Formats: sequence, structure tokens, C-alpha cells
Amino acid sequence: MKTSNQYFTPQQQPLAERILSGQRISEHEALTLFSDFSIPQLSLLATNRKRFASQDKVFYNRNIHIEPTNICVYNCRFCSYRAKSETDGYILTAEKIVEKISSVSGNITEVHITGGVHPEWGIHYFAELLKKIKHSFPQVHIKAFTAVEIAYMCKIDNLGIAEGLNILKNAGLSSMPGGGAEIFDELVREKISPEKPPGRLWLDVHREAHKSGLASNATMLFGHIETRAQRISHMAALRDLQDETKGFNAFIPLKFRNMDNRMSDIPETPIIEDLKTYSIARIFLDNIQHLKAYWPAVGRDFAQISLHFGVNDLDGTINDSTSIYTRAGSNESPAMTTTELQRLIAESGYIPVERDSVYNEV
Ligand code: SF4
Repeated sequence: MKTSNQYFTPQQQPLAERILSGQRISEHEALTLFSDFSIPQLSLLATNRKRFASQDKVFYNRNIHIEPTNICVYNCRFCSYRAKSETDGYILTAEKIVEKISSVSGNITEVHITGGVHPEWGIHYFAELLKKIKHSFPQVHIKAFTAVEIAYMCKIDNLGIAEGLNILKNAGLSSMPGGGAEIFDELVREKISPEKPPGRLWLDVHREAHKSGLASNATMLFGHIETRAQRISHMAALRDLQDETKGFNAFIPLKFRNMDNRMSDIPETPIIEDLKTYSIARIFLDNIQHLKAYWPAVGRDFAQISLHFGVNDLDGTINDSTSIYTRAGSNESPAMTTTELQRLIAESGYIPVERDSVYNEV
């Protein structure tokens, strides 16, 4: 068996040793990983940290993604999904949503709901939707609404965040996804999503959710105009909040895709930069157990490779008929069977494990 000094230079050795022994690294050290460590070295370190978290298991679940509308009060420059005109907008009624879930209900454990931020829909509108879903499918876990959506719903109904979350929770909300975080750096945020609430509001909503017993995920939109340092500082804000609340289940880096949006002139990052970002996320976020590659966004091939760079979760079967990521340039058809997911994981040398929405093994 090789020792770490056969893989790392004498300059790299102290940092590598600290990572291999499970110690926390600083933002400066994370930047050193970007600049001074090779892809095989990062793979080795991230795989070691991943085994700390979940041995050789890679998780997936059976879910359906529902987007109630693409009408949105905001107009993020990277968004390929928002309705561009009145004729391009759609709305799924509660009945239509229940019908969609019915078509797969025997095969799923989770309904995942996010979408555009509709100008008129508040907390009470969505509470009614959740109640209807729960009435028809009492066994499903509802993971719903980004922090941005929740903040806006509360504003519409003149409620505080904690109060709004409580109403949604009583109506059937079981956990929250991690979308809308983008990049917390305010200067970047102003350029890519100028109308959206600041990053600190995203963090406040998740803090309140965790306090009320709702687990959530966290995302980061990377590979556009942000620097590596801004990526690391985004992750540092998440790591700090996780130290405080322990409410995040998974971190999901989302690669910026450049088709059909107002940032199409920005080239997408090369795969090597993506793999570095995933592996450094695994090493830096030592208190968030799961690192997810959201396969409809990154593609099945990348998702499979990412399992060797710290990823231990591939999300699920998705069944997303509105195709948020296909619109943004992903080549994926947004549905995968459990057999395909299991094969993809096993081919990569890992053990496929079905999970529920809060990572209990099914
Ligand atoms: S990313 Fe979300 S909030 Fe921004 S315009 Fe698109 S749908 Fe609206």
C-alpha cells in the first residue's frame, strides 16, 4: 500500500495529511487545492472524505419533480426556464398536479416542487396545494419551495418567515430543496440576478426552516462570472450555518448552462474545473454529509465520473416533464428508471442504495 507521501509533493504533504485525517481546512487552503493539486490527487482526497461520510454507498431516490408555473416575478439572467412572454407561460392547477403525481404514485417516495415565483401566490395558496397532495398521497414526502419562493409567499400574505414556514409545515411540507442560493457574493448576485433577494435572506430562511425541524439542501450555481474564491466563500457561509443548525442534508453544486438565456455569451466551464469544484466541495464542507450530482443538469456521464470526486448521491428518477435543465442546454431526457440509476452507480464501482428524502435507507 502506498503512503500519502508517494502521491503528494513535500509542499502538498501537510495539507493532504490534514485532509486525510479528517481535519477542517481554511478558505485559503481550499484555494490552494484548486491551484496546486492535480485531478488524480483531488480524486484521492475527495474519495477518502466521501468514504468517511458513507463508505462505498451511493444514494438515489424515487421522486417526481413538479414545477407549478414558469411565470416569475424575477428575471435572473442565467434562467432559461422563466416564461419569456405571456403566451409562453403555463400554470399547473392543483388538480393537474395531483393527476401528474397519480401517474407515478406507486413508484415514488417523494414529490419535489419548485418553480417560478408567481406574482400572486402566497403561503395560503401553497398550503392548500400541499393539503390536496397530502390528502391524495398521505405517504409521500413533500420537499418543496426554494428560500426565494418562501420569502416571496410570506411577503404576499404579510407573514414572517417562521410563521409562513409553520403554515406550510402544518399543511404537509416535510423538507426544503436548496435552490435559489446561486452565489452569495452580492456583487456577483447583482449582475446575474439583480432583483432576487440577497444571499443573507436565503440563509435566514434556511436557518428558520432548520429551527422549525425542516431539513433542507443547499446549492451553488457555479461556472459563470464568479471567481474560485467566491465559490469557496459561498461554501464557507453554508459551513458556518451548518455548524449552527445541522439542518443541511446535501450540497448540490449546479453547473451554469448557457443555452437560451441572457448569459449565453459566457462559455461553460471545462469538465476539469467542474470536477475540481465537486471534489473541493466534498473536502471543504466537512459537516454536510451528502454531495449530490444532479444528473439532469450535469448529464449521466459526468454524474457517473463525479462518483470518483466525492459525490455520494445522484438524486432520483425525477420524471420532470417541464425540463428545466433541458431548456438550459442539458442533453438529458429528464427521467431515469431505478434500474438505470443502479447500473450507473454499480458500473462506477460503488454500491447503489435507495434512500428516502432524509437519507434513511429504504
Ligand atoms: S431562476 Fe427562478 S427566480 Fe430566477 S427567473 Fe428563473 S424561475 Fe424566476
